[in-house]
Amino acid sequence: MEQQIDVIIIGGGPAGLNAALVLGRARKSVVIIDEERPRNRVTRESHGFLTRDGISPAEFRRIAREQIAAYPSVRFVTDSAVTVTGADGNFQITTGQGTVYTSKKLLFAAGKKDLPLDISGLADVYGKSAFVCPYCDGWELRDQPLVLIVKGGAALHSARTVSGWSKRLTICTNGPDELTEEQREELKARHIPVFDAPIARIESTGGMVEQVVLEDGSAIPCKGIFFAPKLAAGSDLPREIGCRMTEGGSVVADPFGKTNVPGVFSAGDAASEMYQAITAASLGSLAAVGINSELLAETWESRI
Ligand SMILES: Cc1cc2nc3c(=O)[nH]c(=O)nc-3n(C[C@H](O)[C@H](O)[C@H](O)COP(=O)(O)OP(=O)(O)OC[C@H]3O[C@@H](n4cnc5c(N)ncnc54)[C@H](O)[C@@H]3O)c2cc1C
Repeated sequence: MEQQIDVIIIGGGPAGLNAALVLGRARKSVVIIDEERPRNRVTRESHGFLTRDGISPAEFRRIAREQIAAYPSVRFVTDSAVTVTGADGNFQITTGQGTVYTSKKLLFAAGKKDLPLDISGLADVYGKSAFVCPYCDGWELRDQPLVLIVKGGAALHSARTVSGWSKRLTICTNGPDELTEEQREELKARHIPVFDAPIARIESTGGMVEQVVLEDGSAIPCKGIFFAPKLAAGSDLPREIGCRMTEGGSVVADPFGKTNVPGVFSAGDAASEMYQAITAASLGSLAAVGINSELLAETWESRI
C-alpha cells in the first residue's frame, strides 16, 4: 500500500499525458498507470497534431514523458489497473502486478479498443494502408483508388467525406448493402460503384493493400481502405464503478471531464467519439483543470 496521492490517471495516451502535465505543473501528486496498448499502436505516423505532424505514436509518448519528467510529482507506472474501490477522497486502485495505490481523485483516460477485425487480411494492412479516419490519413492517400468498407446510410456519409481526398472510390458493403434506392442513385450519379458480395480477403504486400477480393470472385484493386472498426471502452472499470456510459462505450462527462460518480473524471477517446489525438489531449487538459479545481476547493475549505 502506497501513500495517498492526489490523482491516479488510468491511461497514458495523449489525454492522460496532457492531464498529467497540467496537474504536475499545478503541483499535484500524480501516478499514471498505463498498460501501453493504445489503439493507434498499429500506425506508423500520426497526423494533424500541430508541431507533431507525422510523428510515430511511440515517439509522441516519449517526448511527452520527457517533458513531464520536469515535474517531479508525476510518476509513471507500466501496469494495468484491474480494480477500483473506495470513494471520492479515498480511492484504492489495484493493479495487475498486485500494487494498491490510493488517491483522492481518479481520471479514466483509458481510450477505446478495437474489437477483433473480422475480415481476412485486414489486420495486415490496418494502420499501414487501411485507416479509420480520413482527417488522420487521407492526405497520404490523396487521388488514389480507395475502397470504403461500409454499409447503409453510413456509406453515403463516408463517400461524401472521403471524396474530399480522392474521387476514385469503391464501396464494399461486405454483405447486404442496406441502402435505399435513393442512396444507390446518389452514389451511382457520382460514379461510385457499390459491391455487396461478402469480402473473402484483402491481399497485400508489406502492409500495402493491393486488392480486395470478394466471395463472388470479383477483385477490386486499390491503394487504400477506409473502414469503421467496432469499438469498445478501453477499460470496463468506469462502468463497474457506476459511471454513466453512452451506447458507443463512452463515459458520459461534462466539459471538465466530471462524471456522475463523485471524484471520478474521464477524458480523451474514453469520453468522446472524436478520435483525434489533439482533441484527446485537449480533453485531458480540461479534465486536469476540473480535478485541480475540486482539489483546491477542498483544501480551501479545510484551511478554515
Ligand atoms: C489506426 C489509427 C490511426 C490514427 N491516426 C491518428 C492520426 O493520424 N491523428 C490523430 O489525431 N489521431 C489518430 N488516431 C486517433 C488517436 O490515436 C486517438 O484519438 C488518441 O490516441 C486517443 O488518446 P487517448 O489518450 O484518449 O487514448 P489512447 O491513446 O488509446 O491511450 C489509452 C491508454 O490507456 C491504456 N489503458 C486502457 N485500459 C487500461 C487499464 N485498465 N490500466 C492501465 N492502462 C490502461 C491503454 O493501454 C492506452 O495506452 C488514430 C487511431 C487509430 C486507431
